[in-house]
Amino acid sequence: MPLKVVIVGAGLGGLGAAIALRRAGHDVQVIEQSSFYNEVGAAIHIAPNATRILREWECDFEALQASECEQAQFWDSSCNPLRPPIVCALIWQCCGNFMLTSSISRLETSKRP
Ligand SMILES: Cc1cc2nc3c(=O)[nH]c(=O)nc-3n(C[C@H](O)[C@H](O)[C@H](O)COP(=O)(O)OP(=O)(O)OC[C@H]3O[C@@H](n4cnc5c(N)ncnc54)[C@H](O)[C@@H]3O)c2cc1C
Repeated sequence: MPLKVVIVGAGLGGLGAAIALRRAGHDVQVIEQSSFYNEVGAAIHIAPNATRILREWECDFEALQASECEQAQFWDSSCNPLRPPIVCALIWQCCGNFMLTSSISRLETSKRP
């Protein structure tokens, strides 16, 4: 039986939950307090597990203007490598947080019944 769901917050978490719940047949409303006039946040990594989900949701990857990473290396605050580089066998992308939120937001609104 379809549920009526209200999600408070249209961040990546809220929008992702809204898309998943709507795809499962539920009636979803998203409430957001911000008008998103100011972009907050730096580049965001979209690891392969997230890429897989976004693909399934038919996300427009070109609109993300993402850079693809061939490997990821992490350092501590003293510039010591934390671990050997992760070599990306699957697509690992890096894009602006705002670009990702906008693209997911378009997905969320365009797939409404
Ligand atoms: C600098 C930085 C870099 C990051 N890099 C990565 C990365 O590379 N990869 C990665 O996976 N993650 C990264 N993260 C983490 C990722 O950005 C967060 O985990 C994710 O954005 C959290 O999403 P959220 O929807 O839970 O919360 P938020 O993005 O905080 O969204 C919450 C939303 O709820 C709204 N809200 C709050 N209260 C109310 C209310 N009462 N009524 C209406 N609306 C309300 C807010 O306005 C906001 O829009 C990074 C974070 C930062 C800060």
